[in-house]
Amino acid sequence: MAIRNPEIKYKELFINNEFVKAESGRTFPVFNPTTGDAICEVSEAGPEDVNKAVAAARKAFSNTAPWRTMDASERARLILKLSDLMERDLCYLASLDTLDNGKPFTESLCDLEYSIKTLRYYAGWCDKIQGSTIPCDGEFMCLTRREPLGVVGQIIPWNYPVMMLAWKWGPALATGCTIVLKSAELTPISSLYVGSLVKEAGFPPGVINIIPGMGPVAGHAIAHHQDIDKVAFTGSTAVGRKIMGAASESNLKRVTMELGGKSPLVVCSDCGDLDEAAELCHTAMFGNHGQNCCAGSRTFVHESIYDEFVKRAVKLAEERPVGDPFDEKTLLGPLVSQTQMERVLGYIEKGKSEGAKLECGGARLGSEGYFVSPTVFSNVTDDMTIAKEEIFGPVQVILKFSSMDEVIKRSNNTEYGLASGIITTNINKAIMYAQAVQAGSVWVNCYDVCLPQTPFGGYKQSGHGRELGKEGLDEYLETKTITIKVPSKLYHS
Ligand code: NAP
Ligand code: MG
Repeated sequence: MAIRNPEIKYKELFINNEFVKAESGRTFPVFNPTTGDAICEVSEAGPEDVNKAVAAARKAFSNTAPWRTMDASERARLILKLSDLMERDLCYLASLDTLDNGKPFTESLCDLEYSIKTLRYYAGWCDKIQGSTIPCDGEFMCLTRREPLGVVGQIIPWNYPVMMLAWKWGPALATGCTIVLKSAELTPISSLYVGSLVKEAGFPPGVINIIPGMGPVAGHAIAHHQDIDKVAFTGSTAVGRKIMGAASESNLKRVTMELGGKSPLVVCSDCGDLDEAAELCHTAMFGNHGQNCCAGSRTFVHESIYDEFVKRAVKLAEERPVGDPFDEKTLLGPLVSQTQMERVLGYIEKGKSEGAKLECGGARLGSEGYFVSPTVFSNVTDDMTIAKEEIFGPVQVILKFSSMDEVIKRSNNTEYGLASGIITTNINKAIMYAQAVQAGSVWVNCYDVCLPQTPFGGYKQSGHGRELGKEGLDEYLETKTITIKVPSKLYHS
């Protein structure tokens, strides 16, 4: 199934359905985080390549271009064809993500399956996007059309390379927009291969363009571009701020953002089976190595079960299989880069120095690759850095609470608002919490259940707008109001 040394077939920019070198001739190295070795060199887009990609996307968006004149049902067929090709090459694509990102192959496979489902879900929307007829005042007939926004820039992070692409492409293609995607510097190879499938599926040239490059160069050029109508961004809150600033300084392009989080997951005294609750919290934190924007990164546990819970959490962390991400048994591979590993180890040091109790882990594993042992902190208080900032690594932070009122207040005491969860057998508690918590997603007795059909996004500084579901389409649509004078003669004849 897994291909340990997948051949890297595409290393150049994908513009107008062709693979082309960067105008500057520049390339950058791509690394394997399991070993630290370079995998290959990939073309690095500069501002002139961004211009080229935007020009291609603009041309593909012109009124007479094939993409605009084709039936919406035909657009659906193309998206379905692309999904089928991704399914055909599932193991190859999953192997590319494991090689490049370090995530366990089993997780890469899940990412791929979910990406394909997302694209298929949005294919279903293509010919079902409708406006309305409005009974307005006066002698007028009024109707609205939902039209594609235009050329969209999409900037994605490294933690889910193919999945982030699918989340962004699905609604953009369903609505009829054209795309300039910048993949993350750390994980550019799988998206380029998907580019070859875009061509094979038969998309017209220029509909989808993929330009690997550096955030402050290619990303910056996209965010400031005068001929891009919208930027969809997923990444850190710090860069999100820059993107909004760039929109304001350039052409007031629309901006949607999925940013960071510090999501509470509350374990009530009436959680039911404590082993199951501990397991759920463990997976919520350690899935994708904790490099997950909606990770359950603040585990709140009721004081009456706290000590028992911590014992179970520690056992689960100590037993989590760490190692070669291509090994089917592995659940924790390397972090994505040396920088990320050092950042996580820095947070662990902060946790210790600020007085949290290190229950297990807390160190780098081995000297090759970027492995950090699964780490659990207990006796954490809200003022500690590890309870406030996004660690983005395999570090569980367990806090104690005594009442629902208290845990609601503490859940909301953060600048973030991406996700949240509660584990309880008491339906009233679940409803109360779900209504009171300020977060875009609330999971009751489950966690991280992001489905193609359900909207996802952040409150507060976790973002603007929603992805997935019907709401995801709205972010790629303009509403045009067409008001028609009804000839008064009609009434008198
Ligand atoms: P990041 O530094 O914000 O990078 C995200 C993307 O933005 C990358 O493609 C990056 O390019 C690009 N970028 C960087 N600087 C830029 C600039 N000045 N202008 C335009 N684009 C720029 O985030 P990261 O470190 O890769 O990813 C981790 C963060 O993403 C975490 O904070 C996490 O919470 C967040 N995240 C959120 C979600 C969500 O759905 N809410 C999902 C995943 C991740 P380079 O690759 O070249 O740096
Ligand atoms: Mg980065």
